[in-house]
Amino acid sequence: MSSVEIAHLCKRYDSVTALDDVSIAFEDGEFFGLLGPSGSGKTTLLRALAGFVIPDSGTISFDGQRVENVPVHRREIGMVFQNYALFPHLTVNENIAFGLSVRGRPREETAKRVDAMLGLVRLEGLGERKPRQLSGGQQQRVALARALVTDPKILLLDEPLGALDRRLRQEMQVELREIQRSTGITAVFVTHDQEEALTLSDRIAIIDRGRLIQVGPPRDVYERPETVFAAQFLGDANLFQGIAEGDRLKLSGGQILHTNGPNTGSVVVRPEKIGVYPAGTAPATDNRLDGDILQAIFSGASVTYRVRVPALGETPLLAFLQNQAGDVLAPATRVSLAWSAAHTIPVAS
Ligand code: ADP
Ligand code: MG
Repeated sequence: MSSVEIAHLCKRYDSVTALDDVSIAFEDGEFFGLLGPSGSGKTTLLRALAGFVIPDSGTISFDGQRVENVPVHRREIGMVFQNYALFPHLTVNENIAFGLSVRGRPREETAKRVDAMLGLVRLEGLGERKPRQLSGGQQQRVALARALVTDPKILLLDEPLGALDRRLRQEMQVELREIQRSTGITAVFVTHDQEEALTLSDRIAIIDRGRLIQVGPPRDVYERPETVFAAQFLGDANLFQGIAEGDRLKLSGGQILHTNGPNTGSVVVRPEKIGVYPAGTAPATDNRLDGDILQAIFSGASVTYRVRVPALGETPLLAFLQNQAGDVLAPATRVSLAWSAAHTIPVAS
């Protein structure tokens, strides 16, 4: 059991605020995905946990003990970077053993532990190779084994799959998650890939300009974004703005949308929540708008429609439909859009 907690962490570089009052308690054994645009402070947060960055203020505690002044090598963290950072002149075995060797562990214990790690990351038989004799995916497994060998309190992963191609990346996602589950280690995983964060994480956090925007299980954050930024960063979102009237939103054209609880003038609707029907055939639902198809993007299993809706002005509405009936509505078709108030989510702007 280990608990890792950060509270009110701040870090500035000259005019840049890299971390702005960040507080998170990582749960024991959870896989925590940290998601945000480039430059939002993800790496700085991991480096602060690891001890490479000294925060200006705020606290970091491991098992209730403050560690801000504990040096990197005494923090009991494991870290994996995008660019592997293996020692090129050492063998796979020696790379994995590194953390134990520097701690002066007995040779026999080290050899046993390295073997166990090779098994864990499925690299049996490759221990005598040099990193350059391995594929990218294999090198990343060595990096993972090297990070786990010392049995750290927390595993920090900074875009570890970013350099891999799509197919391999998906394989490694599954494997990484299995290894994390089987070891029960708490992991903080940085990615800029939304789908990767949604698929892998027990909880995700969205970070923007050093501030945590929202933290929660992937489905909660996706279905109940609290801000326009969170809604638009995590998946696609149609944004409607107008005059708030309790549980209703009055659009500039006078149309009324029924919203999921009181709004303050901005609501979002996910594209897959919107039904698209030939004009006049939409079923009775809470919300209806008319428009014209601008574009139908066919991608096999699904069709994404871009629809011109006078109520939205120049910004097309996005609607995402499963390709169930096999029909695709052509551009310029007049359509009715229909969706429920439950999927019309009030957000802060
Ligand atoms: P991310 O990993 O989300 O892309 P970073 O944590 O690397 O973002 O950076 C956050 C912000 O802090 C960026 O604006 C970056 O330029 C700045 N920054 C990070 N490290 C340093 C540093 N050592 N010196 C100056 N600015 C830095
Ligand atoms: Mg980074």
